Amino acid sequence: MSLRIDVLTLFPEAVSQYATTSVLGRAQERGVWQLHVHDIRDASDDPHRTVDDTPFGGGAGMVLLGEPILRTVESDPGMARPLIALTPSGRTFSHDVALELSHLEGFSLLCGRYEGIDQRALDLVVDEELSLGDFVLAGGELAALCVIESVVRLRPGGLGNDESTLQESFGDGLLEYPHYTRPAQLRGLNVPEILRSGDHARILRWRRAQSLLRTMALRPDLMERRGGLSAHEQAILDEFPALDETGQNG
Ligand code: SAM
Repeated sequence: MSLRIDVLTLFPEAVSQYATTSVLGRAQERGVWQLHVHDIRDASDDPHRTVDDTPFGGGAGMVLLGEPILRTVESDPGMARPLIALTPSGRTFSHDVALELSHLEGFSLLCGRYEGIDQRALDLVVDEELSLGDFVLAGGELAALCVIESVVRLRPGGLGNDESTLQESFGDGLLEYPHYTRPAQLRGLNVPEILRSGDHARILRWRRAQSLLRTMALRPDLMERRGGLSAHEQAILDEFPALDETGQNG
């Protein structure tokens, strides 16, 4: 079943253009997902298609009008739910949230601009708010595209190769192991010898060890969340006790 994603935005081309490129574009062609972009400006009743106004109470900047957003939502009864607004004050987006969204039949993303969206539009039609993190973007489009790309990659067939996302960072609560490609020596740095050994079982254990060691070093919070090491993982670390530094063969 194809995942339906609606995006409500003032910059429809920016969203459509990225969404038809590379992984997202190919996944659309394969029917993994379908994009419905709604230009909020089309719902403006103003001859100049104005969609912003000054804030009540004064202050800097403009506010995205509520009425065009409400009309945009009402214009398409098939619009996917939940309707999620991208805002800096929303729940922080993460792999787990992407996984949640990837199990839905669809969802819609409302992109803000200016100083933000009239609160009444959020209160009336928005089901949830998501934030990309503790920083401020100029608009919700980049945030929406981040959400879309990370979710579509998790859908069956999203990458054309379902195994890839399980092995990736966060797929099993760990950071990924390091990657190497040709040449075997790059500016004096060697590929870890084990990767050229042909011993696939040992390579698997080495990769797992690098993944565990990296996560322990860089993201102890992730280790804590998954409840530390299993006995099997401890055995792997006994075999490969230290991070393999590039250039140090062994
Ligand atoms: N005045 C707002 C504030 O201080 O919270 C920031 C508004 S921002 C300039 C304009 C729009 O960008 C927001 O309405 C939202 O849609 C989007 N945006 C900005 N930062 C974001 C973030 N961290 N996550 C998701 N969307 C964000």
